[in-house]
Formats: sequence, structure tokens, C-alpha cells
Amino acid sequence: MAEKRVALITGAGRGIGAAIALTLAKENTDIAVVDYADESAAAETLAALREAGAAARYYRCDVSDFAAAKEVVDAIAKDFGKIDILVNNAGITADKLILRMEEEDWDKVLAVNLKGCFNMIKHVTPYMMRKRCGRIVSVSSVVGLMGNAGQANYAASKAGIVGLTKTVAKEFGPRNITANAVAPGFIKTAMTEALSEEQKKAMYKLIPLGCLGETQDIANAVKFLVSDDARYITGVVLKVDGGMYI
Ligand code: NAP
Repeated sequence: MAEKRVALITGAGRGIGAAIALTLAKENTDIAVVDYADESAAAETLAALREAGAAARYYRCDVSDFAAAKEVVDAIAKDFGKIDILVNNAGITADKLILRMEEEDWDKVLAVNLKGCFNMIKHVTPYMMRKRCGRIVSVSSVVGLMGNAGQANYAASKAGIVGLTKTVAKEFGPRNITANAVAPGFIKTAMTEALSEEQKKAMYKLIPLGCLGETQDIANAVKFLVSDDARYITGVVLKVDGGMYI
């Protein structure tokens, strides 16, 4: 049997991150869950990961904090002995039209969504370089490619992830480290569940496949990008959006 891999996944306690974690856990991968809330918030996910046969540990960290991110990455490398896969999934929104957007709305969304990715990549890549092998996947959004009224901060952060990913792919390609992004469209999560029927109907009209995506659709894309089948794929932005971007 192939050696077990180790994946560090941010925002893995719930939503899309939890689906990614569980999917990789079923693929012979141990999981380091990096989240902001107290460990109890991720209890259900951790139990499911262990049930799937993974060694799963929880690390509390604000990904936007450069020093804290280093501490956590070093702890994970020590506890698990290596880091093969990094999935930058943690993300927040603070939606407002630019007319009403405050400086702090801009700063906090950029700090978590974009600087958080940089922090993790910066601290994880030295471990990957030593092994001359690594897989990095960051979760962007089609909003980063299309723009969206009321989401200037979020769209900019997600577009930033695209530039960051392509640069990481160029800088670390010679070290056999791939970097790719996944850009989800509208996915069924607590966020989209809160929308009214009317809002949902308006959304379906924008999606050729006519329905929202599932968290599992994003997890399947990540599973592929970190697999051996994707060994020659780097610097891509894989849209998983039911055709919404077309
Ligand atoms: P979610 O349910 O709100 O989960 C976000 C996760 O990120 C939570 O586990 C949260 O941790 C964590 N997080 C937030 N701030 C953090 C911080 N400062 N440090 C560490 N962790 C932090 O969101 P989701 O819908 O699953 O989205 C996951 C990713 O997909 C995000 O990057 C989002 O932008 C992207 N995305 C989502 C959709 C969609 O339709 N849902 C569409 C496109 C892109 P706590 O639980 O501890 O707060």
C-alpha cells in the first residue's frame, strides 16, 4: 500500500473544507484541520475523519496572522512528520457596496482570504521543498473572475488567489510542487441555504446546469488536483460552477 499522505486544510471544520477533508481522508490521507473557532466546533468533522481511517488533529489558528501560521505549520510538520498537501480553503465575506464599504471590511477580507493563503504557502513550502514534492490547492471563486456587486473585497481577494497561484506554480514548479486553484460557483452551504426562494430562482437562471453545486463537487476537484493523475497540471484555475462563468 502507498505511503499515507498528510494534508493541511484550512477552514476544514465545516462547509466545503469539511467535505474536502473527508474526501481526502478516504484517499489514504491524514488530516490537519486548521480553523479559527474552538476545537468543539469541528468535533463532528474530526469524528468523521477518524471514522474514515485518518489520523486527524485540530489546530486553532487565525490564518491571517503570519507568526501564528508559522507556529501551526511547524507543529503540524512535527506531529505528522511531513506535509504533502496544502489546501487553502478558509474564507470569509463582509459584503457591502463600495459606497458603504468601510476600510476594515476591505482589510479583514483581504487578510483572511488572500494573506492567509500567502502565510500558509510561505511556511509550508520549505517542508515540501525538502521532500521535492508537494501539492497546493487554493479555493478561489468565480466571483474573483467575474466581479460581483457588493463583493469588491471578496472578489479582489479571490482574484488575488489566481495571481498568487500562478506565481507559486512558476516559482516552485522546478521543485516538483504544483499549485492550482478551484473556483466554485454557488455551492449549497449555510450561506446559500439562507437565501430566499426568489433569490435562489434568480441564481438558477445564471447557471446552465440549473442547480446549485454540492460541497462534494468541490471536494472531487481538489481530490483530482492533489492526485498523481494531476501530476502535470499546475497553475490552472478549475471552475466548478455548473457553467455559470460561460
Ligand atoms: P464556511 O462554511 O463559512 O467555512 C469557512 C471556514 O473558514 C470555517 O471553517 C471557518 O472557521 C474558517 N475560517 C474563517 N476565518 C478564518 C481564519 N481567520 N482563520 C482560520 N480559519 C478561518 O464557508 P464555505 O462556504 O465552506 O467556503 C469555503 C471556501 O470556499 C471559502 O474560501 C469561500 O470563499 C469559498 N467559496 C464558497 C462558495 C459557496 O458558495 N459557499 C462559493 C465560492 C467560493 P470557523 O468555523 O472557525 O469560523
